[in-house]
Amino acid sequence: MRIGILSVQGAFIEHEKMISALNNEFEETIECVQIRQKKDLENIDGIILPGGESTVQGKLIKDLDMYDELRDKIENGVPTLATCAGLILLAQNIENDDTTHLSTLPVTVQRNAYGRQLGSFVTTGNAGEINDYPLVFIRAPYITQAEPEVNILTTVDKKIVGVQYKNQIGLAFHPEMTDDLRIHKYFIEQIHFKKRTA
Ligand code: GLN
Repeated sequence: MRIGILSVQGAFIEHEKMISALNNEFEETIECVQIRQKKDLENIDGIILPGGESTVQGKLIKDLDMYDELRDKIENGVPTLATCAGLILLAQNIENDDTTHLSTLPVTVQRNAYGRQLGSFVTTGNAGEINDYPLVFIRAPYITQAEPEVNILTTVDKKIVGVQYKNQIGLAFHPEMTDDLRIHKYFIEQIHFKKRTA
C-alpha cells in the first residue's frame, strides 16, 4: 500500500511518523511517498493533506502542476485524510478568503476561526466512533456549514471540526501532533476496504 503525503509545505513529516508507527499493525507493508511533483501521485492508494498554510500549499499545488491530477484522484475516490490547512484545501467554500483550492468537500470553512486569543489549544472529544481523542488546534479553521450528505465526526462547543464525506476525511485539528494512532489507523482501514472492494 502506498500513501502519498502532500509535502510541499507544512507538517508532513509528523504524518509519516504516524503511518510508520502503524506499519506492524497491518499485514501489508505501508509505504509513504512524499508528494512534491505530479509523478509522485502515480499508484498511490491514499492521500494525506497536512496542516500548514493553505494559501501557500494551494499556490504550490498549482505552480507544481499537480492540481488536476490531485483533484481527480480525490474525486475518483482515493481515500484522503486532510488536517487543518488540508481541510481548507478541500473545502468548497472559504468564508474569509477570495480563493478556493481543490474544492471537493461540500462544506464552508472559516480560516483562523478561533481568532488570536485562542489561536492554539488542546481539548478532548470524539472523532466518529473514536472516543476521548486528544484534539490539538493550531490557528485552526472550523466548519460553518456542511451539506446534509456530509457526516459530522467531531464537534467542539457546537462547532463542526471533523467530517467525513465519502472518501474524504477533513479535520480542523491535528491527529499527527498526538501519540494517539487511532485516526490514522481508521484511515488505513478505509484504504484497505477500498482496495478490497475495488
Ligand atoms: N491557519 C492556517 C491556514 O489558514 C491553518 C493552520 C494549520 O494548518 N495549523 O491555512
